Amino acid sequence: MSGLRGTGVSAGIAVGPAIVVERDTAPVFRLSVAPEQVEAEVGRLESAFELSREQLRAVKERLSREVGAPHAYIFDAHLLMLDDPLLRDRAVALVRTDRVNAEWALRCVSESLHDLFSQFSDAYLRERSTDLDDVVGRVQLNLRGSEEAPSLQRLPGPVVLVAGDLTPSEAAGLDWDRVLAVVTDVGSSTYHTAIIARSLGIPAVAGLKQATRLIPPGVLIAVDGTRGEVVVEPSGPALAALQEAQEEFRREEERLRGTRALPSRTLDDVVVRLEANVEFPEEAATAQQHGAEGIGLFRSEYLLGRGLRWPSEEQQVDVYRRLIEQMHPHPVTVRTWDVGLEALGPSGPSSPNPALGERALRLLHRSREPFRTQLRALLRAGRHGPIRIMFPFVSGAADLRLALDLLDEARSGLRSEGVDFEDDVPVGVNLEVPGAAMVADLLAPSVDFFSVGTNDLIQYLLAVDRTDPRVSALYEPLHPAVLRVLGQVAAAAQASGRPLSVCGEMAGQPLEAVLLVGLGIRELSMAPSAIPRVKAALRAVSAERARDVAGRCLLLPDRAEIEALLRRELPAEVIASEPARRSEATRPRG
Ligand code: PEP
Ligand code: MG
Repeated sequence: MSGLRGTGVSAGIAVGPAIVVERDTAPVFRLSVAPEQVEAEVGRLESAFELSREQLRAVKERLSREVGAPHAYIFDAHLLMLDDPLLRDRAVALVRTDRVNAEWALRCVSESLHDLFSQFSDAYLRERSTDLDDVVGRVQLNLRGSEEAPSLQRLPGPVVLVAGDLTPSEAAGLDWDRVLAVVTDVGSSTYHTAIIARSLGIPAVAGLKQATRLIPPGVLIAVDGTRGEVVVEPSGPALAALQEAQEEFRREEERLRGTRALPSRTLDDVVVRLEANVEFPEEAATAQQHGAEGIGLFRSEYLLGRGLRWPSEEQQVDVYRRLIEQMHPHPVTVRTWDVGLEALGPSGPSSPNPALGERALRLLHRSREPFRTQLRALLRAGRHGPIRIMFPFVSGAADLRLALDLLDEARSGLRSEGVDFEDDVPVGVNLEVPGAAMVADLLAPSVDFFSVGTNDLIQYLLAVDRTDPRVSALYEPLHPAVLRVLGQVAAAAQASGRPLSVCGEMAGQPLEAVLLVGLGIRELSMAPSAIPRVKAALRAVSAERARDVAGRCLLLPDRAEIEALLRRELPAEVIASEPARRSEATRPRG
């Protein structure tokens, strides 16, 4: 028996025989092409691109049919990448200028794009190299006249799939009914395969580095996607313990799923709206399954994903419309681009401290176009249902005015062009810079709603870098200063009649969620999977009791005393609804 540790990217436990995916890595030769053969070689390359496009469309359609339309979205990006002049036109140009074979031209262009991707500081964006490999690999296979890896579509019985890197195309072609679990050498939770596995409820562990080397094909392996562990050839007792844990997980999931239809209401009938935070449109389905009453935060910058390219107005309208339709009749709150300088181009200036530098609305001073396009798309999407626009990283009234002026400009532009749009889309501010939170009362007349981004608010309020594990112990959601600011914001929102939500990770922790309700907050937005536990906690306590406890917390001097009071004074069911405590999620930002 031996164990491997990676990142659990899809919860649950599964045990089964391993099947190790070996990728076809045929060598690519460099051949020179005679001048009179060059155009034929270009034709060969173009045909391979064309065939790849047809295959991708078919994969996308199949995925829509079998798994649901939102998952097929991944392949829109592949289709876009396939047509990207940076890939296709440059490869064609290379065949002509260097008179080389199509395979070699494609290899050269893909290598230079990999170099470009590797310069990105954002791990998510760097991971898009995988998409490039997927697209280029497909074209290379088509150049060789090969079939797409057929074994993945005909798996030999229920198996645990072990792969170096499972590309989205491969994931889409998979015979998922026979996959018990997936483990990969690379990847993290933003890995596309992880997203698909999560949506399908299949346990997955990514980032194992050496799984394909250390796991012999055919052996029994146990995958714990909750803890990020893989046990190779588990001993009898270990296997029994894992199977027991597997059963327990199943029972707990079933129990929590049962709360989906239950109202999110405290014992004294105070309604608390629970919404979901999503990064990818395909997560909307998961949000619904967990009982989300809307999307409280769509981190739109994830749409830039592959290749850090701004999606067009049409592409955005399409994404926002699909989100609205999927969540109907609940609202979808889209946060406008929360990106750093790197989004304006890899060769541009960089920020010495991106968390405090030119980011989000501050980029308006350099380039208005991406924001104008996004606002136009949001206003247009508003025709299809309830959507809300939320501006991040606002530090005060001046920032907000700039954004609102641009929104007015977008409205006038659409109106003069005769384009259909919704005039009355609610506009809000993500309160995450302490300065803005302190003047929420002054911002209130200009906005329709507020949402507190506690992830950043805590980092800025306590001067603790949320991405630095060395200071993570100082990152305290229950710090008295955090509670005071939240209490002040809640009072300002109430006085001005503006709805207020909290969309940081804090909202997804049962104990903290009850405290937030005690402070007067009635909307919470969180990772979809956190919703059932938070709902269970809220249903076990009265708002009255939460208010009383929160009031006493506000008088205490430090986190330890506040936490102790919460644990002592809140009903046992609230404490029981907590998952195993984890450090506050501190997603790195780009
Ligand atoms: C926040 O800052 O709390 C937030 C919700 O946004 P992000 O984590 O994307 O910064
Ligand atoms: Mg933030």
